[in-house]
Amino acid sequence: MAQIIDGKKISAEIKEELKEQTAHLKEAGVEGTLAVIQVGDDPASGVYVRNKKKACEYIGIHSKAFELPESTTQGELLHLISDLNADESVNGILVQLPVPDHIDEKTIINAISPDKDVDGFHPESVGSLTIGQPGFVSCTPAGIIELLKRSQVEIDGKHCVIVGRSNIVGKPMALLMLRENATVTVTHSHTKNLKEICSQADILIVAIGKKEFITGDYVKEGAVVIDVGIHRDENNKLSGDVKYEEAERKASMITPVPGGVGPMTIAMLMHNCVEAMMR
Ligand code: NDP
Repeated sequence: MAQIIDGKKISAEIKEELKEQTAHLKEAGVEGTLAVIQVGDDPASGVYVRNKKKACEYIGIHSKAFELPESTTQGELLHLISDLNADESVNGILVQLPVPDHIDEKTIINAISPDKDVDGFHPESVGSLTIGQPGFVSCTPAGIIELLKRSQVEIDGKHCVIVGRSNIVGKPMALLMLRENATVTVTHSHTKNLKEICSQADILIVAIGKKEFITGDYVKEGAVVIDVGIHRDENNKLSGDVKYEEAERKASMITPVPGGVGPMTIAMLMHNCVEAMMR
């Protein structure tokens, strides 16, 4: 039976550490403010935004919420971002994605100052990660590195297979694993022999967005399995991209859904906010 990598516990530890750091910064006269912008009233986005506000409160930074109507134009949103870029009391800016169809996501991401890009999605942040310079790192992959390190998983020299190549998970994940000296294989929907490649992984990271796609026969005996996927069924039950009961029988360590990668994303967002304060 695999050891469970407890994302809830590890994210709580990180938030405690950040709380201490913000208390020290406050003593030194440094306050932090995260601006969170939501356009429209998508219920899932609403939950994420509320959780981010709660996390800010918990670690001791201010949050400014901008709940804009669905009818907000791209120009109005760009104007708000420009004001927040110029506002010295704001250290971090995030726009909850997805934005409505009439707004171009790329234009919005590019408008956020790289100094306040706590989501790590700006091309400058991604470029810095690519060439190993300091910058904000996308929260979910950064959280996975923390999960691995704090669970004493050795990364150096290991073969890491990543399923998925999205800009927010798969690609930055590959760059971070390279930075940690793993040998990295990135797979996607055009990959041939996916099962064979996955079953060679010492560390298998799955962000495919397909419920329980990765069954036990994709997993090498003793592998570490990280499941990024989140799927909610009609009874509100959550599951991942990995068929947990099967993978768990072969893996040495595994993240559950819920309680694995999910809680780490907000913890790493808070980490980026504190980094923004320290800059
Ligand atoms: P995307 O849909 O953007 O990317 C999915 C990736 O999987 C693509 O690169 C796609 O390939 C690849 N893929 C799709 N089908 C196959 C296949 N049959 N074989 C191999 N590869 C395939 O998803 P995200 O990266 O945004 O998210 C992935 C999952 O993680 C989702 O379930 C999402 O909800 C979850 N998630 C969870 C987070 C958390 O905090 N825990 C944060 C972000 C996401 P191609 O590029 O060729 O199309």
